[in-house]
Amino acid sequence: MVCFSRLATVAALFTTALVSAAPIDHGHSEPTLEKRAPTSAIYRCKKPGTIAITFDDGPWLYTGGLLDILKSRNVKATFFFNGFGWGHIDNFATVVKRAFDEGHQVASHTWDHKDLALLSESEVIAEMTQLDDAFKRIIGVRPTYMRPPFGSYTPTTLEILHRLNYTAVSADVDTRDWVHPTDFEASYNVYKALFDNPRDITLPGHIVLNHETHRVTSLQVAPMAIDLAKVKGYKVVTVGECLGDPKSNWYRA
Ligand SMILES: [Zn+2]
Repeated sequence: MVCFSRLATVAALFTTALVSAAPIDHGHSEPTLEKRAPTSAIYRCKKPGTIAITFDDGPWLYTGGLLDILKSRNVKATFFFNGFGWGHIDNFATVVKRAFDEGHQVASHTWDHKDLALLSESEVIAEMTQLDDAFKRIIGVRPTYMRPPFGSYTPTTLEILHRLNYTAVSADVDTRDWVHPTDFEASYNVYKALFDNPRDITLPGHIVLNHETHRVTSLQVAPMAIDLAKVKGYKVVTVGECLGDPKSNWYRA
């Protein structure tokens, strides 16, 4: 279980990261022999009219209910799972496997949600590989997408992640559900505001940050947000899909 103060810290740091987010790295203009590490995590989709709804900090008690909701609406989401966060991943292996089997993007949020910017290289590698090994046991493959806890990283962190063949993903929209975990309107209004600009659908889509560890987020906000996105003409997809990255790149053996 995670105490509230830790959550508040998580949230504060993540918000800081979002506000101070560097623009998306679209790659280098000069030719390079070897692909360099990116200078930033990915914050937005590339495909216009897409919404990648992402859920952090699970698996937890509401993962199964959330999967039911996604299935009933025939949409795919992205799960940034921890190994040992709110729960231990081995105790939730069934829902993790189900998320993978039902076509959602399963991605890493590190083993136990430490701030990677404060860790040594070997500690960062351990945070990634320990969860990787659990994923290999549970779903048979290792995810290539990850989200740094607290939205926190340094250029060195990105270099290490790049060397380990991970794509680091942040978000350009934060529901701030951690601030108001039981307030449906507060989170839902973030989605409503997002869909309010008619020109927005012609622009690169959004990566929206949610925490599946909050009941209201998973079981009330998620279905309403998906329904609204559809009404407004958006396509609800995974992060990989909204970036135009084929599914074969989302995992490695
Ligand atoms: Zn988190």
